[in-house]
Formats: sequence, structure tokens, C-alpha cells
Amino acid sequence: MGKPPVSTEPDWVSWRTPSKNPGKTMLKGACLCAGVRFEIAGELQHAPDACHCSQCCRHSGHYFVSANVARAALTIHGEENLGWYRSSEKVRRGFCKVCGSSLFWDPDRSGHDFIAVAMGALDAPTGAQLARHIFVADKGDYYEIRDGLPQSERF
Ligand SMILES: [Zn+2]
Repeated sequence: MGKPPVSTEPDWVSWRTPSKNPGKTMLKGACLCAGVRFEIAGELQHAPDACHCSQCCRHSGHYFVSANVARAALTIHGEENLGWYRSSEKVRRGFCKVCGSSLFWDPDRSGHDFIAVAMGALDAPTGAQLARHIFVADKGDYYEIRDGLPQSERF
């Protein structure tokens, strides 16, 4: 007579189950600890790009792949766990205060109506494909970019 198996399933797994609304696409994402979760109602505004600037590399630990979404399309849960770091006058970067995941690049003081979301935080499948590399002039010296995608020195 053994004990009943202990469930190792995290209690947020139900949140990851597929939508029961056929026809409606909803991208979902989370930080590593799932203390911050988010949903995107609607499309990514462009194919993801990889930013190699020094700020993105320091914030994320390597280059930062993200895509913009309309601010109104983004719903964030667990905002009490979400920290913001103002990395420049017009931009703040969102991260989980518990596990440290890099999540958002937010040009909140620029008048833009979008926010960039970290592709690595999204649940698969995203249906998206990396399109280009930006700020490659600032990239680290410890790797090469060999995927054949377009590169720009800055934007
Ligand atoms: Zn977290």
C-alpha cells in the first residue's frame, strides 16, 4: 500500500491549457516562476527581431528577441511581481521580481502605443519567425551571427 502519488503539476498548469474558444488566437506567456503571466489578444505587430545592443544584452543575459504588441492587447497578471527598470529616458524594462526573467521593453514615455514582449517568455507554438538582427554594431565579441537574416548596425 503506497501513498497516492504526489502531484508535481504546478497549480498554474490549468492556465496553460488551450483556449476553449476556437477561432480566437491568444498568445500566452510567463516568467520562469509564473509569478508574472500575460496574454496577448491579437497578432504580433511584426516578426520578432533580435536586439544586440548593450542594454538588451545586460538586461536579458544575451541578445533580446522580442516583438511589439498593441498596448491594449496585452493583459498582465501578477503585476505585484512585475518590476520596472528605467533603462533610458523614454524606455523602461519589465522583469519578474521573483525569478528575474526579462519580459517587456516598454517605450512608455515615447508616445508609442506598443510594448515589446520577450519571445522567450511565450508559450510554444508562437507561429512566429525571427526576421532580423538590430544594433549588431554593439554585439558581444563572443558569438557570430550566421543565420543569414538581415542585420542592421543600429535600427
Ligand atoms: Zn517569475
